[in-house]
Amino acid sequence: MVADTKLYDALGVKPDATEQQLKKAYRLGALKYHPDKNPSPEAAEKFKEMTAAYEVLSDPEKRDLYDQYGEKGMNGGMGGMGGMDASDIFSQFFGGGGSGRPQGPQRGRDIKHTISVSLEELYKGKVSKLALNKTILCKSCDGKGGKNVKKCTSCNGLGTKFITRQMGPMIQRMQIQCDACHGEGDIVSAADKCKACNGKKIANERKILEVNIYPGMKAGQRVVFQGEGDQGPDIIPGDVVFVVEEKKHEAYTRKGDDLYIEQKVDLLTALAGGEIAFKHVSGEFLKLTTLPGEVIAPDSTKVISGKGMPIPKHGGYGNLIVKFTVEFPPNNFTSEEKLKELEKILPKRKEVKIPKGVEVDDSCTLEDFDPIKHQSRSSNQRGGYYDDYEDEDDEGGQPGVQCAQQ
Ligand SMILES: [Zn+2]
Ligand SMILES: [Zn+2]
Repeated sequence: MVADTKLYDALGVKPDATEQQLKKAYRLGALKYHPDKNPSPEAAEKFKEMTAAYEVLSDPEKRDLYDQYGEKGMNGGMGGMGGMDASDIFSQFFGGGGSGRPQGPQRGRDIKHTISVSLEELYKGKVSKLALNKTILCKSCDGKGGKNVKKCTSCNGLGTKFITRQMGPMIQRMQIQCDACHGEGDIVSAADKCKACNGKKIANERKILEVNIYPGMKAGQRVVFQGEGDQGPDIIPGDVVFVVEEKKHEAYTRKGDDLYIEQKVDLLTALAGGEIAFKHVSGEFLKLTTLPGEVIAPDSTKVISGKGMPIPKHGGYGNLIVKFTVEFPPNNFTSEEKLKELEKILPKRKEVKIPKGVEVDDSCTLEDFDPIKHQSRSSNQRGGYYDDYEDEDDEGGQPGVQCAQQ
């Protein structure tokens, strides 16, 4: 999948076009729209557009960026034409001034895959075996296409040649596909053609790659298999690149080398100590014993050192940060008499402070908050009172409080 097809559309090719197809499309378009051949402003515009598109798509790295991110992946946008201008690219094809640029073998495209890994796997590390379908040079003919393959003498092995053509008052020099070798650059007789690849020089292969995810790897990191990209005649194969993606975990989140988790603890344990246990991404259970007298307050955060993710290279482990929520017992969990005993145990109630001389309404009652019943009045304004209530519960607002007089 590509993010945007605009540049491919400009050249009239599909997003999976090969380098050869791109080259051909640009060449044909240039023959039609180059200002020398077609002086109309529309043609000039079209030529500019095609050239800009080709400049990106003919560069494997830029094409990769464009495929992934569309135009916003291109530095400085598309208008600037990078460092190359239309005439540079044009002259690559048409040998501007007769100096055809010598071209060595081109580097093939990198093949990029995402590899989705769970936190558990990132903690322990693992080896993923992944099958890759790739194009390789035909093994029967070593990528030559057959026996007694001769360089095409008509085009000197280039697959293309220049012709001159009279166009009105001008003589145009242009490059066309060699008809002697059909653009192949070499010639082999039908009898000598490789039977395995039918002279195509390439074959398909399924290869298993072992991707080593080492402990502590992070999202966005890459595992690169150099030169494992598609092979082809006169192509230096690109790389196969796996980009690590971290799967969302139901309990843990990760920031750098540290892990975060929320834990519920019951009120008695929070106040009087006890045991807390939960599963770690290592697979083991972590068991904590809090001492009597060690209070865990609601929303308090504690750290378990060394129980975060492994730290690659440097060694050691990050920390585990635990945020506690305290589960309170339900209404009427015990008798009034027993509650009186709590008064002996817990710190004293805070004294209610009301300034002297103010009017006091002592008829207020607390109800449970019911979104349907209590939300409607203010919900027209800011998308729901309930949300605000959730967010602002620290601010002393008391949405459940109703008073007799309003
Ligand atoms: Zn072959
Ligand atoms: Zn030829």
